Amino acid sequence: MIAGVGEAMLPVLKPSKPASTNPANEVAKRLTGREYISWSAVSTFRQCPLKYKFRYIDGLPEESVSSALVFGTGIHTAVEQHYQAILSGDPRPNLDALLFSYRSAWLPHDPDAIQFGSSETRASLDALASRMLTAFLNSPAASVQGRVLGVEEEIRGMLVEGVPDLYGRVDLLTEDSDSLVVTDIKTSRGKWSQEQVEDSGEQLLLYSHLASEISPGQKIATRFLVLTKTKEPVIEEHVREVEPAAVKRTLAGVERVWRAIEGGQFYPAPSTMNCSGCGYRAACRAWAG
Ligand code: SF4
Repeated sequence: MIAGVGEAMLPVLKPSKPASTNPANEVAKRLTGREYISWSAVSTFRQCPLKYKFRYIDGLPEESVSSALVFGTGIHTAVEQHYQAILSGDPRPNLDALLFSYRSAWLPHDPDAIQFGSSETRASLDALASRMLTAFLNSPAASVQGRVLGVEEEIRGMLVEGVPDLYGRVDLLTEDSDSLVVTDIKTSRGKWSQEQVEDSGEQLLLYSHLASEISPGQKIATRFLVLTKTKEPVIEEHVREVEPAAVKRTLAGVERVWRAIEGGQFYPAPSTMNCSGCGYRAACRAWAG
């Protein structure tokens, strides 16, 4: 929820238009059962169009889930709990409370269906989580610059004519002295290079675009909070101003992806990176066009 700020509630992330005014939402609902698209769906399509089809059109359950995904969700949940306490004005949770949240991410999964890396075990990942969350609690990022306005805040709105609404959740929304800051929390094998920051920014660009349409004139910055999964975890913050040309380019990319989805352009895009953790390997092998 967005925090109250004096006499007014910030209307920043409310939908710019009701869902029913965007005709493309109906098309999305017919194709996928959901009257919107998410960044995760766009990104899955770009990774592998067939994987997108299995997940979003056919609704196939995944045969397996990667430990990296479950682990990342757990860290995410724990860090959000920390910011949620700040938002609510509650005492900040200690390491044990954050680890409890982290462990909850593993509960919905069948342990036999989780694919671990060759040098990983559940115990080694739990120990890593403890080191990462300790580093986070001791880092400047645990204290918010300005104030927290929302945690896991829903955002929805039309990006481009003819494309369904984008729906998502902003990990953390804060406001400092002169701008609104849209934060995405990431876990990473190592420190991020400048290229990684630039290459990973599209989701935040879209969220900031929606926020800027609803809150015109307010300066908006995007920020990545990266927790490294290294032996000695590092907590990095990468803040960038939003460049209009980058937003335009991202919108054009999303439009092309949606046109391809509408046109049924589904095909396998095999690669070592995409396929090793894919939960549809058997369905993919059985696919014949
Ligand atoms: S196994 Fe590879 S090619 Fe097949 S659906 Fe998964 S990511 Fe795509």
